[in-house]
Amino acid sequence: MDSSKDGKAEMLFLPWILARGHMIPVIDTARVFAAHGAKVTIITTPGYAQLFQKSIERDQSLLGHHDISFHTFKLPTAEVGLPEGCENLLSTALDRDMSEKLFSAISKLEKPIEQLLRERRPDCLVSDMFYPWTADVCAQLGIPRIVFHVTGLFPLCCEESVRRYAPHEKVNYDTETFALPGLPDDNIKFNKLKLPYWFKTKGTGWGQLLDIFLEAELKSYGIIINSFYDLEPTYAEHYKNEMGRKLWLVGPVYLFNKAAEEKADRGEKNSIDGGTVLSWLDTKKPNSVIYVSFGSQVRMAPKQFLEIAHGLEASGCPFIWVARDLSKSNEEDKEKREGGEGENGDKMLPDGFEERMTKSGHGLIVRSWAPQLLILEHVAVGGFMTHCGWNSTIEGIGAGIPMITWPLAAEQFFIESLVTDVLKTGIRVENEEWVSLHWEPKVTVTREKVEKAVKWLIGGDGGDQVVEMRRRAREMAEKAKKAMDYGGSSDAAVIALINELKSRQSVCE
Ligand code: UDP
Repeated sequence: MDSSKDGKAEMLFLPWILARGHMIPVIDTARVFAAHGAKVTIITTPGYAQLFQKSIERDQSLLGHHDISFHTFKLPTAEVGLPEGCENLLSTALDRDMSEKLFSAISKLEKPIEQLLRERRPDCLVSDMFYPWTADVCAQLGIPRIVFHVTGLFPLCCEESVRRYAPHEKVNYDTETFALPGLPDDNIKFNKLKLPYWFKTKGTGWGQLLDIFLEAELKSYGIIINSFYDLEPTYAEHYKNEMGRKLWLVGPVYLFNKAAEEKADRGEKNSIDGGTVLSWLDTKKPNSVIYVSFGSQVRMAPKQFLEIAHGLEASGCPFIWVARDLSKSNEEDKEKREGGEGENGDKMLPDGFEERMTKSGHGLIVRSWAPQLLILEHVAVGGFMTHCGWNSTIEGIGAGIPMITWPLAAEQFFIESLVTDVLKTGIRVENEEWVSLHWEPKVTVTREKVEKAVKWLIGGDGGDQVVEMRRRAREMAEKAKKAMDYGGSSDAAVIALINELKSRQSVCE
């Protein structure tokens, strides 16, 4: 046995570095495995390591000396004509030119990472799907590659259904409804407008990349998912049996964060401190506040901001709104943004809105990054208007809160369907059109739709249906906690994978 491993399973984690939605769950997952006795190394850049350093130090020292550390590589940004540290900006993925250059800088890390794998010979590499090249490197070195998917099984099964059966090719017009074939539920209905463009223009752009990711996945040892069995049991079976993948459901990993500082401090500096948000929430009645946030990478038209603002004000319900617009997140534009103006001087908030909301205590507007976990857990928060990113969704599920779904891009319309059609713990705001983060944003949801959905969920219009929805949401939250607790399904999956990796050590020696 390799003495440097102290009889432990050695796991290397390689998160994708251009998105908080990829980085946050991988870091939490790595921490969970370390807490279960694995020797864990997270490969990232110094800037990202810094963002998560506090949590890792806490794990290393206070919490029973977990064997977890970072191995950092500096991203050669200068070589591709970018300023140092720009990979850490929230807006990078939205700037097409910058993200293409960053992809190229990341590809220059392939050799050093391969070298690290050769030296360390870990028991596995947990790789974000965005690094397909790790499949061949791991195969050459005999290291199991385990893919980390930053989404759930339901959306993955929906994607596979579209890929296999192409139901959208059998309809006559964009809004014609079709069912997604071959899924455990037969009520999953879509239309072409809600599908990502890459299903409609096969083999190009992002679609081409996804084919490469899939090819790499098929060569891999298995898959880790930040979900739990009771959330999507039929889809877990479907994924294993129909799609033939080896699977470990280990989440919701965010529940590993127990201390208030860990919940408050995740992946970015908050633009409002946890204490201020909690004091504001303490003044509100239980289930009376709607939390509105669209994740880490939202890009919306100034007029869409206006519609949200009018809709929230007209609903009469208290709200916390993370009103960040990344298309203007550089310093030059910061001033404008704070003055409530969009890119072209367009107004983003109605006259006097922020002042009115602050004075009346009706609304709290967060300009950049909010302590989301703290907010979702507060008893005053009765609903979450979300873009249906997987992390936000699983955080909302874990907090036991019903949602108003407002999907925008990526696989978010599939996740909306999970929440509204399968779990029945949310309602649609009725956004009808998929848009890429790189397309010119436009208004797709009117103020009336925002007002109606908020009044239904928070303002009492939904009556007994909301009471029932809350009951279902709370029940699922209980199941989420049980899954992560000692002896739960996710806890067992983590132990099973560690044991499997250890048993391979003796076979491989
Ligand atoms: N997040 C946060 N504060 C914010 C915005 C986002 O803490 O103001 C966190 C959120 O809790 C989640 C992640 O960032 O863990 C966003 O991931 P998600 O998959 O929901 O969306 P994405 O940003 O990938 O679209």
